[in-house]
Amino acid sequence: MHMDEKVVSRKAEKLVGVKGMNDILPPESARWEALEATVRELMLRYAYRNIRTPILEHTALFVRGIGEVTDIVEKEMYSFEDRSDKHGQAEHLSMRPEGTAAVVRAVIESNLLYDGGKRLFYMGPMFRREKPQRGRYRQFHQVGVEALGFGGPDTDAEVILLAAALWQAIGLTDVRLELNSLGQPAERALHRAQLIAYFEQHAGLLDEDAKRRLHSNPLRILDTKNPTMQEMVAGAPRLLDFLGAESLAHFEGLKAILDANGVAYSINPRLVRGLDYYNLTVFEFVTDRLGSQGTVCAGGRYDDLIVQIGGKPTPAVGWALGVERVLELLKETGASEAVAPLDAYAIVGDAKDAPRVMVSLEQLRAAGISVQMHPAGAEGMASLKSQFKKADASGGRYALVFGVDELAQGQVTIKDLRDASQAQQSRPLQELSQWAKGLQSAT
Ligand code: ATP
Ligand code: MG
Repeated sequence: MHMDEKVVSRKAEKLVGVKGMNDILPPESARWEALEATVRELMLRYAYRNIRTPILEHTALFVRGIGEVTDIVEKEMYSFEDRSDKHGQAEHLSMRPEGTAAVVRAVIESNLLYDGGKRLFYMGPMFRREKPQRGRYRQFHQVGVEALGFGGPDTDAEVILLAAALWQAIGLTDVRLELNSLGQPAERALHRAQLIAYFEQHAGLLDEDAKRRLHSNPLRILDTKNPTMQEMVAGAPRLLDFLGAESLAHFEGLKAILDANGVAYSINPRLVRGLDYYNLTVFEFVTDRLGSQGTVCAGGRYDDLIVQIGGKPTPAVGWALGVERVLELLKETGASEAVAPLDAYAIVGDAKDAPRVMVSLEQLRAAGISVQMHPAGAEGMASLKSQFKKADASGGRYALVFGVDELAQGQVTIKDLRDASQAQQSRPLQELSQWAKGLQSAT
């Protein structure tokens, strides 16, 4: 902006954010940071390493990775044609609606699996053009894990245990685990034929979505949220009844590890996933407290995806959780709020002393404590009284008073704002860092 534009007095039209895309503001953002910090710490303990992929990918990646006949690819992606490059080729790009396809693409592209399997995690924004409502946004955030190169049920169990440990760490109690097995493609083909036959017998009950999916993706009909179809869908042939010995053994292997660890679950034979790439284990952590947006975390095994995206056959399993839903749920269940701590608030007698004061404050910050200075206005510093009021309201523990008299003697006055029984003390400015270090080790 040109500086001159500021003097125009007519008020400009107010600009607002994009529908379904939220600002995350303080103090709310502190809850996000606390969750992110817990996630990072936990991922380290399970030996999962961070991966960061771009927001934009070629549209073809999601079409291939997620599946053409899915809500996401059919109607929810933010896709556009990029401007042509100098060869006249315009690229079809999309904002990522989920994380797995991009992680797999990156892993293949950089040959990350050359020396064996990898355990990865990501967090960041995803984009889907859905109808915004509570727990459903157009920009939302996911934390996800992907364990690539491991085919055994122990890894399915590991990612589930990791999620359960996260709920424990953040104090989320109101989620339950649902499990299912989708078996292998050959088993699904057998089931599919019977499923289509069953739905055809009940064609009168199918809604538009279901009719459209009847031959392209009948499994997804099981996942319907339409209440008038529930009863009919409940009687549909169960995929679990079509599994062969190997698939069943995998499922049993997973359950044994969950049982040994005291992780409760229920089998939901109608649980399928919104994305096409899953096989064997699928699971969701669900809650009843967020209405129809009750899935907090969802995942499963996707042994065929890596080949579909052009890599060598590699088994893989992972999950993604919705950060907004987790935080919403934490609020619902009254789990504790994170408060950003402020250690000290600096009160300054005369704005002319700002250079000296701000040198001291930099030393305090370097010593590890958080401190904020009362800002000088155009007329200099406010009265000490009104600065004390702000210090109180800041939530800071201590007021550091850099008054004119104090500074003349090279001193600062330290007042405990939260404990009136503590006498205020004066300290030489040079000893402030030492005082700060003392605070640090006391906590
Ligand atoms: P749903 O059935 O609720 O639409 P989904 O099957 O589309 O979920 P996934 O693609 O498996 O969801 O994404 C994993 C998680 O991401 C979900 O369980 C949910 O917590 C979260 N999530 C998905 N879409 C949204 C959205 N539009 N807004 C907020 N969170 C979302
Ligand atoms: Mg969805």
